[in-house]
Amino acid sequence: MRIGNGYDVHALAEGLPMRLCGVSVDSPAGFVAHSDGDVAIHALCDALLGAAALGDIGQHFPDSDPRFKGIDSRLLLSEVARMLSAEGYTTVNVDITIALQAPKLRPYIDSMRESLAGILGIGTARVSVKATTTERLGFVGRGEGCEVWATVLIDRDGQV
Ligand code: MG
Repeated sequence: MRIGNGYDVHALAEGLPMRLCGVSVDSPAGFVAHSDGDVAIHALCDALLGAAALGDIGQHFPDSDPRFKGIDSRLLLSEVARMLSAEGYTTVNVDITIALQAPKLRPYIDSMRESLAGILGIGTARVSVKATTTERLGFVGRGEGCEVWATVLIDRDGQV
């Protein structure tokens, strides 16, 4: 078994779409990004790649590459899952913490868990998504951006 962690930040701007964990969130502001800005999926991709020591998301999907402009981040996660699968790994569990001042994400949490579980091909019970504000402190608290941490455990039968 191997553990991995991932971290990502995206800035918020008025009038842009907000997608988190592959789910559209109703919000007056969304993420500034080369891709669709799904900061939660980006953190999760880095956690998975980190657990398998397969580099990072910027290395596999550079934001200088026009192929990835506006790309649905679910496709990036799907590709990362394929890479781990090719190495013989399965995902044991995923735990994600999203720091966002607004809007409240509670109504979206179950859809987010189902979305990620579907892409990873694992049961929803293995996927945790949590959300917190930062009590109006820092750049997250001022509504300037969103911060996400992801932790994963992966397993490869009987191998180190
Ligand atoms: Mg990112």
